[in-house]
Amino acid sequence: MSGETEWAGLIRDVADFPKPGILFKDITPVLADASAFAAATGALADPWREAGVQAVLGIESRGFILGAALARALKCGFVPVRKPGKLPGDVLTVEYGLEYGRDSLQIQENALSPGSRVLLVDDVLASGGTLHAALSLARQQGCDVLGAAVLVELQSLGGRGRWQADLPLTATLRYP
Ligand code: AMP
Repeated sequence: MSGETEWAGLIRDVADFPKPGILFKDITPVLADASAFAAATGALADPWREAGVQAVLGIESRGFILGAALARALKCGFVPVRKPGKLPGDVLTVEYGLEYGRDSLQIQENALSPGSRVLLVDDVLASGGTLHAALSLARQQGCDVLGAAVLVELQSLGGRGRWQADLPLTATLRYP
């Protein structure tokens, strides 16, 4: 693959997945291509290289893949934010609303010291509920949240409107 952003063309649209009406952005072809994966994670990291990030908080599950690569690029730690029942030991939990019903996310208590400078990461920003929930978890943990980074922002779904306006939210690719 040549060119800086050609990796973006590898993102595949899958209609009606995982349920009818959803146009799913499948990033797995980007992950499978060595130069595309490197270019995408490099672009995700670029706005944050001088930010003094101490830990990346990656949201299950594609946020783990991008988050771990991002943590390596930023030379910082990685802490997983997971679906309920997956993390051992004491956990903090946040519940949040979905289009239908509710979901929750957890982080291990004491995974980070109070005041740790953290960056939240996920693959796709849609309605913004997931990222907002992860922000509350990080705050419960006493972290200094520097902002959030997503690979893809689906602007029509309005997720940025649910994010705290004065906190940076970087999107490597934006779809109108
Ligand atoms: P939301 O909470 O609505 O912003 O949804 C974001 C979460 O759901 C992320 O963890 C994404 O991985 C996933 N997601 C939502 N919509 C899509 C989509 N159209 N394509 C791929 N992933 C999506």
